[in-house]
Amino acid sequence: MDRRRIVVVAAAVLFLVAGAGAQRRTPPAAPTPAPKAPPNPKLDKLKQDAAAEIDAMRVQTQQMVDQVFSYGELGFQEFETSKYLTAVLERHGFTVQRGIAGIPTAWLATWGSGKPVIALGSDIDGIPQASQKPGVAYHDPIIEGAPGHGEGHNSGVPLNITAAVALKALMEREHLSGTLKLWPGVAEELDGTKAYYIRDGFFKDVDVCLFAHVSADFGVGWGESRGTGLVSVEYQFKGESAHAAAQPWRGRSALDAVELMDIGWNFRREHLRLQQRSHDVVTNGGDQPNVVPPNASVWYYFREIDYPHIKEMWETGNTMAKAAAMMTGTDVTWRILGSAWMGHFNKTVAETMYDNIRRVGLPAWDDADLKLARGLQAELKVPVKGLATEIEPIGTPVPPEDNMGGGSDDIGDISWNVPTVVLRYPANMQAGPGHSWANAVTMATPIAHKGVTAGAKAQAMTALDLLLRPELVEQAWAYFRNVQTKDIKYTPFISPDDKPAIWLNKATLEKYRPEMRKYYYDPSKYPTYLAQLGITYPTVR
Ligand SMILES: [Zn+2]
Repeated sequence: MDRRRIVVVAAAVLFLVAGAGAQRRTPPAAPTPAPKAPPNPKLDKLKQDAAAEIDAMRVQTQQMVDQVFSYGELGFQEFETSKYLTAVLERHGFTVQRGIAGIPTAWLATWGSGKPVIALGSDIDGIPQASQKPGVAYHDPIIEGAPGHGEGHNSGVPLNITAAVALKALMEREHLSGTLKLWPGVAEELDGTKAYYIRDGFFKDVDVCLFAHVSADFGVGWGESRGTGLVSVEYQFKGESAHAAAQPWRGRSALDAVELMDIGWNFRREHLRLQQRSHDVVTNGGDQPNVVPPNASVWYYFREIDYPHIKEMWETGNTMAKAAAMMTGTDVTWRILGSAWMGHFNKTVAETMYDNIRRVGLPAWDDADLKLARGLQAELKVPVKGLATEIEPIGTPVPPEDNMGGGSDDIGDISWNVPTVVLRYPANMQAGPGHSWANAVTMATPIAHKGVTAGAKAQAMTALDLLLRPELVEQAWAYFRNVQTKDIKYTPFISPDDKPAIWLNKATLEKYRPEMRKYYYDPSKYPTYLAQLGITYPTVR
């Protein structure tokens, strides 16, 4: 998830984060500049060493990015992905706890001891029907209809592992106190897990969370930003089956109720605030026309920019569902499939990270990278501008009255419990519409590999700041307690009884996995996934 300015998203969808306030409040005035850090030659040297370690890991980083790309697994079904990533972490000395929060594909990997405790997170799930040959600047699926990394979530945990392995080497060499925890955003596209990680206590001892999300740019922001939070709810209607021609008067159609709920919602949409986003898919529309559907269901995302408005939309949705049931003589129940608070990101940590982003700088794109980017931009009829050439200013708070909605990401739930920032690293390009094959084109090419290496450096350098300058952790918590959560308190959308929707996407992976398995990357035979697929880089029309 899916935080920032209008973000850029090329890469995927944006990670739009959201304005979060439960109440409107005056946005902070002009940001006060962070106190200038005193010269610290030891820290500078460690940052240089971290960058050198990360450069030396380029091949391993590329292999991880390509490997996860080739798995292309959807939310809650990231079995190959998690098996692979946790094995890499164990090989590097991390202790892995699997199946956390009742989610089979979730895990927590820990190394080190003592304070500070730094959590490095990123998402791992793919997008339905986004299968795409990397490095090819037009729609060309590896497997027609199969899922793929059409948001670029194959790259973030490889970035964090690269950063963590470099950090571990330096922490051992320098005898630095501190604990690194790596964790995956399972089923981010469903906003399906992070609220459960919080509910079940996995961030209780964490001092700072450094999250990473793919982007077309290299940046970070703080405060409330553009975007939404959401609840994801499935309504299940129950009627009576009957012969649809012989005795239709004996039937009660659950599908009629789904259609009437959708019609009711679409009329109400005219009278909703401009900030809202709402959309649905019919998850069960019946079996065949001559059987009056006794069961039908519809799945809604209700998005708004703060907790009270999301709750209000959800109530309206429930009213529509009950009214549709009354109109059709059916019954309705509903269950929550996901949720996300709007993000609010930490000023101290973001300013610290921003200095490191500037220190690292954008990758050096070569002619082949630019040719791919321009080729895809021309194909999609969007401005042909190649790849990022400059680092944007640090993102600052968007006042709620200026937030006209957008995407959501359940990193928001973490950000309201622990000082958190989101590193946007330049592993994609501005071209695709998000959640699409087009957003997968770069994600196993040198553009992604270079962007991940650059992002890993910024991530590792920021962790070094936190390890060597304990006053930053204190300042981060002061902002969290005295500014961010002064008037707004976190209340989860999920209840103590709700359970993660781990059955989602199971049937899709069962259908496609046997064919997808033939295309898993084998780094023992091929230097890159492009080489394995026999793709000339870049391939443009
Ligand atoms: Zn995402």
